[in-house]
Amino acid sequence: MNFGNIYNFNTKLMALAEQAEKNCSDAFSGIDKTAEYNGAKVLKAFSDNKVSEPCFYGSTGYGYGDLGRDVIDKVFAQVLGTEDALVRFNFVSGTHALSVALSGVLRTGDKIVSITGKPYDTLEEVIGISGTKGNGSLMDFGIEYGQVDLNEDGSADLEGITEAVKGAKIAYIQRSRGYSLRRAFTTDDIEKMVKAVKMGNPDAIIMVDNCYGEFVEQREPSEVGADIIIGSLIKNAGGGIARTGGYIAGRADLVELCSYRLTCVGMGKEVGCTLGMNREMLLGLFFAPDVVSNALRTSAFASELLAMLGFECSPRKDEQHGDIVTAIKLGDEEHLTAFCRGIQKGAPVDSFVVPEAWDMPGYTSKVIMSAGAFTNGASIELSADAPIREPFAVWMQGGITYTSGKIGVMLAVQEMIDSGLINI
Ligand SMILES: *Cc1c(COP(=O)(O)O)cnc(C)c1O
Repeated sequence: MNFGNIYNFNTKLMALAEQAEKNCSDAFSGIDKTAEYNGAKVLKAFSDNKVSEPCFYGSTGYGYGDLGRDVIDKVFAQVLGTEDALVRFNFVSGTHALSVALSGVLRTGDKIVSITGKPYDTLEEVIGISGTKGNGSLMDFGIEYGQVDLNEDGSADLEGITEAVKGAKIAYIQRSRGYSLRRAFTTDDIEKMVKAVKMGNPDAIIMVDNCYGEFVEQREPSEVGADIIIGSLIKNAGGGIARTGGYIAGRADLVELCSYRLTCVGMGKEVGCTLGMNREMLLGLFFAPDVVSNALRTSAFASELLAMLGFECSPRKDEQHGDIVTAIKLGDEEHLTAFCRGIQKGAPVDSFVVPEAWDMPGYTSKVIMSAGAFTNGASIELSADAPIREPFAVWMQGGITYTSGKIGVMLAVQEMIDSGLINI
């Protein structure tokens, strides 16, 4: 018996998928090695910091003496190779954690320079690049913004960086490709950027948006010179288990400043009850290296299968990944919508929903999104989004189990076959 019968997959598609999977065997063993290394890091941090049953008890009110909260901060700090960490369910999203970090560290008259081009969409308003005057953005508080655009080929402009960071308080790096066609930056790339920053300004604080990047490689940006890194728990670091939250990890003095912004000056991370969230935050981190490896396997499989069908994919299966995102150029609206319909059919939740392109606020073209997740908006779970515009590419990420990720990708291809868009 094979799983193809359960889903009535086209037999030619089954054969292609099997071949794609075979072609990925080297990529898969690399991914497994990384998961093993990171899994060991996590396990050791649990043991070194004496995670125990009482860490799971929730506190209320001020949350004084919450054992789990303090242990979680220490475990994350050890895993990420930082002096300290602030890990809280109170971060409503990655953008919120990034916003707290930026406003925690920056003061009026300071300058932040984004050295990897335009930052993630939701940060434009946080910084004040877009949005209305008087809304409390960084620029509204008299913080200056500068940007070093990427080179034509998507690499960082190292010479430009050395010049631009002179006098800046923060040099800001976005590791993930986000929703652009550039590659994600690897920790090797980030190490080079750190050198370029230090050459121009040894005092600049290097801040990294680490969303989608945790556990993709053996080293985190904080291990190659980043002073502070930020991420979301409904992406990689929450392992598909944490239902909300984010983290800020880095130099102890910087983490303390951020904690003053999350709660208030003077209290910082000493307060904040955890209700009943500690267990799932720890369980999520425990799962995270393996869950990320499932997302990476799904990415490699999708990239190989779609490349065999003639579509341009990035990254290819054997390129070094810096995040869990795969961009696939499908060519037109019909292909994009069929692909997203198929991904939706493979979701464990809301599989019966038919995604449609719509005019999402803040976007200039229609966007189609498919996601059927246990956690609302969790893009560590298999999901795909596509703005309906040139180059008609879909951005796919996640897959908390490889089996469901693979089936989702095969359903996306099957949907394009059934719609008469591709022949195999
Ligand atoms: C997801 C993400 C964010 C934060 O987005 P939220 O939806 O607020 O969690 C920021 N930067 C990058 C690169 C991301 O992928």
